[in-house]
Amino acid sequence: MQAPSFFEQGTLVSVLTTQPLDRLLDYKAPEGGCFAGAFVEVPLGPRLVFGVVWGPGAGGYDPSKIRAVNKVLDVAPMREEMRLFLTKAADYTVSPMTSMLRLATRAPGLGDPPSMQKIYRLGEGAPDRMTPARQKVLAVLEEFGGLSFTLGELAEMAGVSTSVVKGLVKQGVVAEQDTPRDRPYPQLDPEMSGKDLTEAQAKAAGQLSAKIRNGDFGATLLRGVTGSGKTEVYLEAVAECLRAGRQALVLLPEIALSAEFLNRVQARFGAVPAEWHSGVTMTERRRCWRMVGQGGAQLVVGARSALFLPFRDLGLIVVDEEHDSSYKQEDGVLYNARDMAVLRASMCGAQVVLASATPSLESWANAETGKYDRVDLTARYGPAVMPDMRAIDMRVQDLPSNRWISPALEGLVRGRLAAGEQAMLFLNRRGYAPVTLCRACGHQIACDDCDARMVEHRFLKRLMCHQCGATKPMPQACPSCGVEGKLAPVGPGVERLAEEVAELFPDTRVAVLSSDLYGSARALKEHILTIADGGADLIIGTQLVAKGHNFPKLTLVGVIDADLGLQGSDLRAAERTFQLMRQVAGRAGRADKPGLAVLQSFQPEHPVIRAILGADDEAFWRAEAAERLAAGVPPYGRMAGIVVSGPDVQAVFDLAGEMARRTAPLQKIGAQVFGPAPAPIARIRGQHRVRLLIKAAKSAPIQTALRQWAGQFRVPPSLRLQIDIDPQSF
Ligand code: ADP
Ligand code: ZN
Repeated sequence: MQAPSFFEQGTLVSVLTTQPLDRLLDYKAPEGGCFAGAFVEVPLGPRLVFGVVWGPGAGGYDPSKIRAVNKVLDVAPMREEMRLFLTKAADYTVSPMTSMLRLATRAPGLGDPPSMQKIYRLGEGAPDRMTPARQKVLAVLEEFGGLSFTLGELAEMAGVSTSVVKGLVKQGVVAEQDTPRDRPYPQLDPEMSGKDLTEAQAKAAGQLSAKIRNGDFGATLLRGVTGSGKTEVYLEAVAECLRAGRQALVLLPEIALSAEFLNRVQARFGAVPAEWHSGVTMTERRRCWRMVGQGGAQLVVGARSALFLPFRDLGLIVVDEEHDSSYKQEDGVLYNARDMAVLRASMCGAQVVLASATPSLESWANAETGKYDRVDLTARYGPAVMPDMRAIDMRVQDLPSNRWISPALEGLVRGRLAAGEQAMLFLNRRGYAPVTLCRACGHQIACDDCDARMVEHRFLKRLMCHQCGATKPMPQACPSCGVEGKLAPVGPGVERLAEEVAELFPDTRVAVLSSDLYGSARALKEHILTIADGGADLIIGTQLVAKGHNFPKLTLVGVIDADLGLQGSDLRAAERTFQLMRQVAGRAGRADKPGLAVLQSFQPEHPVIRAILGADDEAFWRAEAAERLAAGVPPYGRMAGIVVSGPDVQAVFDLAGEMARRTAPLQKIGAQVFGPAPAPIARIRGQHRVRLLIKAAKSAPIQTALRQWAGQFRVPPSLRLQIDIDPQSF
């Protein structure tokens, strides 16, 4: 790598700030000069703002008017490769550079000098007396032997107040120590022996490791049926990367998954890695951000935004469950972490492993064309076999109204419970009932600010909007006609299903796994581990349970409504339903007992339902691919969604209409423009949303055309324009 350029004092440099101006600003290099990539503080109007020295200044202004950089912050400069990545990511997503910089600097106190903090670990002393609270603290310290915690962390993990910990410190039972706030993470040891891999696993791991030893960029689709040991395999790739002295990043779609994953990392490498996601404290984030840059973190386990951490030498990015829709960031900069992972890796000569049992059609197609390598694991590990899959034809099931568990499914559940095994009922609907209807006038209670119905949550005793999160108490009288006592729940949510379960299986231990029933990510994680341990016999769950949890005793999965995702005209609906159903079914029979998955459906002859039940996944993807090709949509064409939003519906439609009329830059690349039409959710938080869809050939330079086109319009301050490359629904 070449040395970064240095700017002597007084030379012009261009600085990228996080302020909402989409351009670089010229400054004079400060006393002592600065490197390209330096984190700096610069004057902007009356204020001092944060920025990064991007390169030489553009010049062209009166030099006497140009101000000097105020100071260089005590942070390692941003590497050139990172600056290039941010530039390309901004180009790809058609978003401002300043927003990209904000993504890359999401750590508190970046410029602050290193400070000290107290950390706590097991001491030598013995307590004068034992209390249950003290016992909890000691249990945590014993369980995580080598680790030390901050006061807050330790108290939270033990579920006690900080004074309990302080009491133990006084007696020397817990030792207190001053350390720099940003200390390196414990060393991971790739030479510790992992599990004995099967022949197929060893072969797959060998293929990935060989690519890592090459030290170049490359991407591999690791396609393995649920329970085939994908995680074991990519952990070997991580080991190879660590051996090469490079850093690794594992992206997971769900924080709740990380508990199990951290345990597996600890078992494989002898220590837990750094974590980066919304559940991590600010102090820990700052530590992670800094240590990643200094090489004090070998492995990061994180959410999609971890892609923007300043890795010193990133050699491997694993995107686990790569098809998962939560990898798409739907707020601010709209990006798909899977695509950004590939871009980032291509900038720093890293390998990407995209792991999934049901890959996205995008990745499947890239493997077909040879752009990605493909490694397959076709059998489950050990004696576990793939679950049997069947449909229950709901048209012939005799089911009273407000009942959702068919007699056939009920019988199956009974059988499993009698055998001492676990069963799971899957319903992808949070809350009690999706609709609250007035039986007097037919009114359905809707959110005041969104184009969405309010969902009753009995557990919270409120109605909730799943778009904006607003809640309100359940009214006595209908808000439309005023009649009292006529509001009734319609349709099932998981809470309502739990009532039915309680009636059918009164003496069974039931657990409901739905994100909104937990106060914190930690509570959810712990509950999942308890359930996996056998802490419940019947699990009721939403999408949350579909994502990769291991429940060894689970042998039956019943999908309450397999048709749910197939309504509507979205071209991705088939793919999404296929992935979700397979994922859910994959929870069944992961240990030594065979599993069964049943799908309750009113249309069991539907091609997607048939594909889910069938064994020929390649045939499903080929059929999907043919449809997308015929429609000219991703992955065989380019699409972009342009959403105009604002409080005034007329103004929103006016701008969108004008945009639809003046499309010269788009026509030049042969793109088609559809709309304007109400966006899939036509109103959120009082903002009306109208969408245009742009479709172009795969090879068309759609980003450049979009920038030119969108640049023609003056967007009034009350309106917002959002460009979504490769939208989730079309
Ligand atoms: P996947 O990620 O493909 O769903 P996992 O890696 O989670 O599969 O493996 C499924 C289960 O099988 C896990 O409990 C894992 O520990 C176990 N397993 C997989 N491969 C091995 C192996 N070679 N030796 C021991 N246990 C294994
Ligand atoms: Zn709302």
